[in-house]
Amino acid sequence: MPKSPDPNAEARVSAWPDLPWDDPRHPFHVEHMRMALDEAQAAFAEDEAPVGAIVVSQSRGIVGSAHNQREQLRDPTAHAEMIAITQAAQAVGSRRLDDCILYVTLEPCAMCAGAIVLARLPMVVFGCTDPKAGACVTLYKIASDERLNHRARIVSGVLAEPCSQILTEFFAGKRRLGKK
Ligand SMILES: [Zn+2]
Repeated sequence: MPKSPDPNAEARVSAWPDLPWDDPRHPFHVEHMRMALDEAQAAFAEDEAPVGAIVVSQSRGIVGSAHNQREQLRDPTAHAEMIAITQAAQAVGSRRLDDCILYVTLEPCAMCAGAIVLARLPMVVFGCTDPKAGACVTLYKIASDERLNHRARIVSGVLAEPCSQILTEFFAGKRRLGKK
């Protein structure tokens, strides 16, 4: 389990010695969730459900940055996490992302939680929970299921409010359009 995912993290983390790594207010998590939110914003601008993801490697820094592209790619699997994980594996040159953290604005679904296990990601940090599809804490706990051969540490609730707000706005807009 990484104590800190990049060499500069130690310095930044030591400024907040009281916050444990699992604390959603941890500045390292907040900083990267902001980046994931920027990706979600990009999805919103492209009329895609606004979910964004970032992968940070301990040795290389940011190796994946993506947003949901299901409509544009006409691909039901084009979730932000899937694209970011693929980018990260290419960047790292390995299918194992065992020195990486995945940040995502919304709790991963069953498919993405499966990909997290396959990628051997040691830690997943997400923003808001997904009551309809969440597969990390809400409906299932795939990424931390003891029966599987890999478990990720899960931190939830990082910038949960803005992560959920952007989705609410997007779907409220869709409903308004639907009524016209
Ligand atoms: Zn997903």
